[in-house]
Amino acid sequence: MLDTQQKTKTYQTYIDGKWVDAASGKAFETLDPYTGESWALIPECDDTDVNRAVEAAYRAFETGSWPNMTPTMRGKKLRLIGDLIAKHSEHLAGIEVRDNGKLISEMAAQTRYMPEWFYYYGGLADKIQGAVVSVDRPEHFNYILREPVGVCAFITPWNSPLMLTSWKLAPALAAGCTVVIKPSEYTSASLLEFMRLVIAEADIPPGVVNVVTGFGAVAGEPLVKHPKVAKIAFTGGTATGARVNALAAQTFKKVSLELGGKSPNVVFDDCNLEDAVSGAVAGIFAATGQTCIAGSRLLLQETIHDVFVEKLVAMAKQARLGDPSKPETQVGPVTTPPQYEKILSYIDIAKAEGCTCVLGGGPATKEEGGGRYFVKPTIFTGVDNKMRIAQEEVFGPVLSVIKFKDEEDAVRIANEIAYGLGAGVWTQSVKRAHNMARRIKAGTVWVNTYRAVSFLMPFGGYKASGLGRENGAEAIDGYLQSKSVWINNGPGGGNPFIMKTAG
Ligand code: NDP
Repeated sequence: MLDTQQKTKTYQTYIDGKWVDAASGKAFETLDPYTGESWALIPECDDTDVNRAVEAAYRAFETGSWPNMTPTMRGKKLRLIGDLIAKHSEHLAGIEVRDNGKLISEMAAQTRYMPEWFYYYGGLADKIQGAVVSVDRPEHFNYILREPVGVCAFITPWNSPLMLTSWKLAPALAAGCTVVIKPSEYTSASLLEFMRLVIAEADIPPGVVNVVTGFGAVAGEPLVKHPKVAKIAFTGGTATGARVNALAAQTFKKVSLELGGKSPNVVFDDCNLEDAVSGAVAGIFAATGQTCIAGSRLLLQETIHDVFVEKLVAMAKQARLGDPSKPETQVGPVTTPPQYEKILSYIDIAKAEGCTCVLGGGPATKEEGGGRYFVKPTIFTGVDNKMRIAQEEVFGPVLSVIKFKDEEDAVRIANEIAYGLGAGVWTQSVKRAHNMARRIKAGTVWVNTYRAVSFLMPFGGYKASGLGRENGAEAIDGYLQSKSVWINNGPGGGNPFIMKTAG
């Protein structure tokens, strides 16, 4: 774990296998959201550093040892990365908590699980196969090659920095791509520690993985615009994702986007009540609601509304607020000062919209277990799905409770939203479970569970929640492109002015 007594730590960034300062020499402070104090200095990269990093990644892709390494050898390197993450998982989790204020129990679970991505995609590296095609001309031998797309740029958010990087890095490296990563300005330190303890230690060739730390507009945009970047894998807010997508289109980059959500957690009156109450709490108050898959709209069948709300409030008000580095803490601080202000403003919006606040509803004080940037777990009832509190992503511990009548009504409310990332369904009816899973427009539907993810299951959004999928075997396709090869074993000739078609 990090020595928390330590004064300000100064980081360098990692470009072309070397530790370097930003070319401008500038650095910015990163805050501990629990104490509100600055604890580290991070290089403030700009377009000069981005260019340096992309050129290094491009060289490594075109001429370095990485493209010449066999896929089997690349797979072994990925498994070594997995082993090194496992060795340093506790340390990496400690840094994440210091930078984003999420619970040590949550971040440690993530860093302990991360090696699986590198073992899984390491195993897939030498199973990427093209095909021989029996084309419709007897004299031809045709085949399809599956080739890496090239230099990939990753842009990541602050809420689960290393896990969301791993979802991209493992398939990209397995495919043979090289990478430049721009972490969130709020949480760069864990990635720099990861580069030191994992990537450098695994002896990954220079230029294969590079980092440009800094601000979105100054370090992120030049990366998105750089002509030598072939693919952008972005996780973040929907507005930023739309901007990144528009910029990337100008140079025809491939793009995957994992964006925001306003996920419905739908509870029917035939559910196991205790499980569903606990699932509703896990859906919104775990990770202080700062998760893209937060079940922030709780849809309750009207027949159980009152009893459910009573049990929900009773459970949620027991949540222990406090120091996120302590394993017994259940709700930590909000990660960034702007996010803190945004959450409080949405609480005001919900009150102005006429919702009833049945729990919380404002900042938490030190006496209540909070430090800096704490918001009380907050529950609003009487929410109409058309209200802003129901339609807009708050990204904090604020739950909107909406009543529904029957299955039809539940499906309508669940789908009347711009987003489509996740959804929960609580029922004991198998028929209803499958019907709801089919009818809800979301990339993931959990039945009688919530917030489960795996390296084996595709993850991504419908509608404004994103483009493409991470995780599972299909994710590697996002880092590959197909090349058709035609070998003519017959005579040449024919009319050169006419396209050669079979007919
Ligand atoms: P942002 O969209 O603000 O930022 C995401 C990343 O984009 C950051 O690294 C940011 O840098 C960078 N960025 C900002 N502006 C630009 C730009 N103009 N060009 C290029 N890069 C830019 O999201 P947050 O960090 O606030 O994360 C929260 C959001 O992420 C929520 O909406 C949440 O739903 C979503 N999210 C989605 C997930 C999913 O898998 N679908 C998972 C986790 C979160 P900087 O930090 O310097 O601004």
